Amino acid sequence: MKKRPGHPPTPADEPGRLAALLEFELLDTPSEQMFDNITALAAQICGTPIALISLVDAERQWFKSRVGLDASETPRELAFCAHAINGETLFEVDNTLLDPRFCDNPLVTSAPDIRFYAGMPLSDGQGHNLGTLCVIDRQPRHLNDEQRQALRLLAEQTVQLFELRLQARRQHEQAALHKAMFRSAGNAVLVTDLDGMIQQASSGVATLLGYDPEQLQGQPLELLLPQNTCQLPDEPLRPQLPTLAGQGQVHEVQLQHHDCHGVPVLMTLAPISLEAQAPLGYLCIAHDLSYREEALQRLQKLAAHLPGVVYQYQLRPDGTSCFPYASQGLEMIYGLSPASVKDDASPAFRVIHPDDLRSVGDSISVSASDLSQWQQEYRVLHPSKGLLWVEGKASPQRKADGSVLWHGFITDISERKQIDRLKSEFVSTVSHELRTPLTSIAGSLGLVNGGALGEVPPAMQGMLKIAEQNSQRLRLLIDDLLDMDKLIAGKMDFDLQQLDLNTLLAECSASHQGFAQHHEITLRHTPGPEISVLADPFRLQQVLSNLLSNALKFSPSQSEVRLHSQLVNQQARILVIDQGPGIPAEFIGRIFDKFSQADASDGRQKGGSGLGLAISKALIEHMGGRIGFDTQQGQGSTFWIELPQGSGVNP
Ligand code: ADP
Repeated sequence: MKKRPGHPPTPADEPGRLAALLEFELLDTPSEQMFDNITALAAQICGTPIALISLVDAERQWFKSRVGLDASETPRELAFCAHAINGETLFEVDNTLLDPRFCDNPLVTSAPDIRFYAGMPLSDGQGHNLGTLCVIDRQPRHLNDEQRQALRLLAEQTVQLFELRLQARRQHEQAALHKAMFRSAGNAVLVTDLDGMIQQASSGVATLLGYDPEQLQGQPLELLLPQNTCQLPDEPLRPQLPTLAGQGQVHEVQLQHHDCHGVPVLMTLAPISLEAQAPLGYLCIAHDLSYREEALQRLQKLAAHLPGVVYQYQLRPDGTSCFPYASQGLEMIYGLSPASVKDDASPAFRVIHPDDLRSVGDSISVSASDLSQWQQEYRVLHPSKGLLWVEGKASPQRKADGSVLWHGFITDISERKQIDRLKSEFVSTVSHELRTPLTSIAGSLGLVNGGALGEVPPAMQGMLKIAEQNSQRLRLLIDDLLDMDKLIAGKMDFDLQQLDLNTLLAECSASHQGFAQHHEITLRHTPGPEISVLADPFRLQQVLSNLLSNALKFSPSQSEVRLHSQLVNQQARILVIDQGPGIPAEFIGRIFDKFSQADASDGRQKGGSGLGLAISKALIEHMGGRIGFDTQQGQGSTFWIELPQGSGVNP
């Protein structure tokens, strides 16, 4: 757009100038007497009807003070001051009508009919002219030297007032901030003189130390320190103040409450001084630590009632470890004091049974690497109690320094282990004792029912059949219990052989056809690829028999159960697929536990001990394989076994 001849030029660093103007926080503020005095003086000295303190912003000139003019602002492009701010000296137009830049300016051709203008730039000292102090007349004029000099001095004075005004505002803000900080709850803030005599005390002093803040004025700071337990070095305090404050240290000290009990605080002491000058006094801030003390005591009381030790264990990136916190129960578990392992956990590892040390170390490494819950049962050689069985559980957390911190507890499970042992010995003995008579009862009943002793009277047939069936079930249960016992004791022998999988599965399928027919279910074996597996034939059949009888037992009649094999990742995989009810979600995690059944009620429809899958899992794992299942509620289940492949040479 073409500019008019009188359009004011733009100053060199206009963005900087505008920023400087904004920083003074003057624009659109109410009039202030000190500035009105300056314009009044300027008008009087120069003998003009109008005098202004004009600030030129991006769009307009705005008057911070004005004499003889009603308007509070005019557009920048018409402003005489917008011309004046381009120079460093007084900008004068004696007769506007004779000046081509201004003769057709609306402020000249109409109200306020400017004929004379003299404006002194208001420089902030950084090269930015914020506006002017100007005088205006409706007739042509000429200023004399004194008047010009006076305008210059008044302009300088105006800028100084701008600065002082800004400083005063900042100080007010600071004062308000200090007041708010001073009043802040939880902290007690004290201001002392150089001798440590309290000059001011915040209201936090009342909450923290029970003193009325005014009551403390004029009292020595030592009043707040307990008589005998002062933790600051060398009483009296006063000579120590400069040293303590100079070091800017934070002290954990006990202050004395008005009612004489100790209050733990974090105290900072800082000198109050104006820039590089000597201190005027000291600022003392006491931050309440009693909540921390309370929390610690609460933890100690709770921990003292727990059966075992609660602790934090930290594994540092360099491989060393420690117990940053351990309750007194550590004595019961390891025979060690918490202090003895605070920085170095080695004493605790030294009392772990040598045979268990490796598994404990490995389990810690696994938990540290995948941040999984740590859980381990192991033995400890307690210095006074002898051999203990303990169980630890802890949750890991990675710290910023790369270390891992576990929070957990360890309990003494020796008694439980002893009971478990007695229980399994009892079960084992009873099972053994029951097996022989039971076998002979079942055998005898079989003979009777088979007619070996003559025809069974019809009235007895039903009862004798039930007796035979139940004695068979009892025998199976006893067999399961004995198997479990052997597996736990590591006494089960395995005769690993190369087995042709298709042959084995075909045999299994054939031997379960009767059971399948009984349940009105089609049992189908689909031969898979030629695979040989390395397994104990008897034990593998035992597992398959359990999977098949479960599938047949839990499937609805007229459905189908499939037995199938495939090669997955160089492993032989056997699948038993049924169309039964599937495994309930809440039971999935427990299905391989001993004695667990989805329907554990007395009125359950299907027989079984709940031991079959637990035994199957142990058997398969002993043969180096894995067992698992996929299931969908209402859609059926697929139980699978993975076994290592044999060398391929079939027996
Ligand atoms: P059980 O002797 O009771 O069959 P198992 O250990 O073999 O003992 O099985 C445990 C439980 O798992 C069963 O009682 C049943 O609730 C569930 N289960 C096992 N296989 C199946 C399956 N194919 N379909 C549905 N539920 C099953």
